Amino acid sequence: MSSISRRHLLTAAAGVAAIAAAPRVVFAQAATAPAAAPAAGPFVLPPLTYATNVFEPHIDAKTMEIHHDKHHAAYVANMNAIAQTNPQLGTTPIEDILGNINALNDNIKFTVRNNLGGHANHTMFWQIMGANGGKPDGEVLAAIDKDLGGLEKFQNDFNAAGGRQFGSGWVFVTVTKAGKLAIETRPNQDSPIMDGKRVLMGNDVWEHAYYLNYQNRRADYLKAWWNTVNWAKVSERYAAAKAGTLTI
Ligand code: MN
Repeated sequence: MSSISRRHLLTAAAGVAAIAAAPRVVFAQAATAPAAAPAAGPFVLPPLTYATNVFEPHIDAKTMEIHHDKHHAAYVANMNAIAQTNPQLGTTPIEDILGNINALNDNIKFTVRNNLGGHANHTMFWQIMGANGGKPDGEVLAAIDKDLGGLEKFQNDFNAAGGRQFGSGWVFVTVTKAGKLAIETRPNQDSPIMDGKRVLMGNDVWEHAYYLNYQNRRADYLKAWWNTVNWAKVSERYAAAKAGTLTI
């Protein structure tokens, strides 16, 4: 072996050793991260606080896994990627970025709108779902009665609005600081937060939220989804909205 190629080999070996010796960065998310781990960065996929099969037969485990571990994870990974060249995205509160979405530069606006919108929407979505979610009561029920015509009318109107949303999107209940509720829909991953509003709760009507189990039967999914709502969490968010502390 010539001294030149030996030198190359030694250099290469030293490089490998340096990489192997580099400290492994461990993120808090690692224990619950999906198989395709998101890029490191300021945005974190919130782990589900319940098992993925807890909503069966209303939502199947496979749909929950793909929805959380792949779809939501992709929005988070995309935000971490864009935050590498736009670090202010990682240091500004999410609701402030979304609330001023049109102030962003044109070269990042579209990506942030879709992916940070998706991150906010899904973070809310997992939060307001839970096993044995009970029924609305207290101030939330009073607001539903006052502003939305009672629980039955509210659920029917919410389902109808979700059914009318053409293509991908969301159906939300927005809440003002005075506690007033309204049903609103948005396309894609848009959020009422982009209009300076706050979201009490919402349902995802993208096909990825239901297609494995329901195929084209979105109306059946919308009806069944109510069995997954965690009303205690909705009440917490309602109180936070009135206190002015509700973010995403
Ligand atoms: Mn979704």
